[in-house]
Amino acid sequence: MLETHGLTASYGQFKALFGIDITVAPGECVAIIGANGAGKTTLLRSISGVLRNAPDMVLHKGTPIGALAADAVLQRGIAMVPEGRKLFPSLSVEENLLIGGQVRRGDGRWTLETVYALFPILKERRLSPATALSGGQQQMVAIGRALMSNPELLLCDEISLGLAPVVIRDIYAALPRIRETGAAMVIVEQDITRALAVADRVYCLMEGRVTLTGATTSITREAVHAAYFGDA
Ligand code: ATP
Repeated sequence: MLETHGLTASYGQFKALFGIDITVAPGECVAIIGANGAGKTTLLRSISGVLRNAPDMVLHKGTPIGALAADAVLQRGIAMVPEGRKLFPSLSVEENLLIGGQVRRGDGRWTLETVYALFPILKERRLSPATALSGGQQQMVAIGRALMSNPELLLCDEISLGLAPVVIRDIYAALPRIRETGAAMVIVEQDITRALAVADRVYCLMEGRVTLTGATTSITREAVHAAYFGDA
């Protein structure tokens, strides 16, 4: 459903990705791991239309989407949960969710009600400004906002970063329920154990290149360690 072919990305003169090939099948969960600065966020930005310097290197259902703006990518069913959440701070929880529903694909399953069923605390806090929420609750809003577009593919950037273990557990518990709707996911995650537990396949990036890929059931801890730290 999604492919990148020789994907490169740059910030001015600085090259961040050097020919990345990844695929995501319908309904699949793919984890992207790698150390700080490996290029994980840049990869997600290149898919989601935030970065647009790879016109023919990102394909969605066979169509090049690398030149599309973020809202056009969203309309095709690819939604991003960005690093740092990027909520509208002065708007309420419910208003943030409704903004996510403004680009909406068909009559899919995600509505305010189903997002509140997934994260019941958000219903209790629905009239609170986003800034009044804890970090974990804000992350739930960011996920809910992305779901409100009824995505086929959800791109999640570091959804556990900076959160307490108990909150991370709650957020990760929601992922299988999102997958039950048939959505595919790409998860960027610093916590390798968590990434391997949740994903079907993994790609490890180092310095803008893929150093390992495989099914999470078939790759060894040693191989992941070598690919992550570059001591293969
Ligand atoms: P992290 O876990 O720290 O977010 P990452 O794997 O997501 O790391 P990226 O954020 O994609 O890595 O960064 C890849 C490289 O691109 C890094 O060397 C980073 O310094 C550089 N980079 C990222 N964003 C910019 C930017 N806006 N301008 C210039 N360089 C950038």
